[in-house]
Amino acid sequence: MGSVVSREVHIKRAPSGMPTEEDFEIVEVQIPDPGSGEVLVRNIYMSVDPYMRGHVLVGRMIDDALGKVMDGGAIGQVVASNHDAHQVGDYVSSDLGFREYFVADGSGHKTVEPGIAPLQAYLGIAGMPGHTAYSGFLTIGEPKPGETVFVSGAGGAVGSIVCQIAKIKECRVVGSTGSDEKVSWLVDELGVDSAINYKKVDDLSAELGEHCPDKIDIFFDNVGGDHLEAALYHMNRFGRIIGCGIISELNSTVPLPGPPNLVYLYTQRVKFQGFISSDYSDQLPQFYEDMGRWIKEGRVKWKETILEGIENAPKAFVGLFRGDNAGKMLVKIGPDPAI
Ligand code: NAP
Repeated sequence: MGSVVSREVHIKRAPSGMPTEEDFEIVEVQIPDPGSGEVLVRNIYMSVDPYMRGHVLVGRMIDDALGKVMDGGAIGQVVASNHDAHQVGDYVSSDLGFREYFVADGSGHKTVEPGIAPLQAYLGIAGMPGHTAYSGFLTIGEPKPGETVFVSGAGGAVGSIVCQIAKIKECRVVGSTGSDEKVSWLVDELGVDSAINYKKVDDLSAELGEHCPDKIDIFFDNVGGDHLEAALYHMNRFGRIIGCGIISELNSTVPLPGPPNLVYLYTQRVKFQGFISSDYSDQLPQFYEDMGRWIKEGRVKWKETILEGIENAPKAFVGLFRGDNAGKMLVKIGPDPAI
């Protein structure tokens, strides 16, 4: 057994409804020394993502995840290596869960070669959320200059990037988010044309109608539920709805009915397509090229909400469902990277 002790976040019980910090526990485990062909990695940043809520249809974490490490992406640094392709000091990304250290044979992680942004941005704008925004919006949305784009969850990691790509594509952009601070950030700093604080609105459909006088050509939906219903009432003919996520429904304890106004899909000839970003992994080289250029030119910005210490990972996760984050939610658990 090696000398490294690692703390991990384990799932103690399946959340019923809104997850709580008590659904998780921090467990110490002894990490073995890396064997032949293996590396020891110390994680630095962990990515906190809505998909970690688990099995959406029954509203609960998948049973076989109980007592095991919480799923999740991270970026860390190789601190010991017996692997030809990974040197000590290399930065690597992995999906091996919320843990301080791990030993792996190189198959579960890949090298990060920062160049376009600071290290942690490879979990945000230059990583999965950025690629999700880029591929979903451009491929399914097929934006044209002058079109109206509505983005739900606009103050989050994916939504805030969609808003900015839509502006680059010369669209008129309306966002919805859950606080006045996020509304101001979207409009004053990201160049969104108008934004709604949905928590202050009694009738979301009526409010959306006010913000979209030319109706909606593209709806990028991160939220589902009331947002999907409201947007359907205002879709233009041959509009496109990009189904990215349904965060408003993830904590439901019962299967929820769909919106009552799906008839607008066919009266308005709307295309409604869901996607998972990995469907478009062939676009990654183009994504890195375009996003790298936009970052360099100052055409896209990003925010991070960073909690410190692995013991705060449950708080960060629960916070996603309260809207605690502006931009990307991260937990920092290692030393400052050199890049
Ligand atoms: P995020 O938007 O950074 O964080 C979640 C945000 O959702 C919160 O900050 C909160 O902001 C909002 N929210 C929480 N509960 C809500 C509710 N009941 N109604 C409305 N808004 C609510 O998360 P993200 O990583 O960018 O993910 C955004 C969406 O994309 C999620 O649905 C996620 O599952 C999905 N996603 C899909 C893919 C894919 O491949 N299809 C990939 C990544 C993410 P407010 O302050 O605005 O409430």
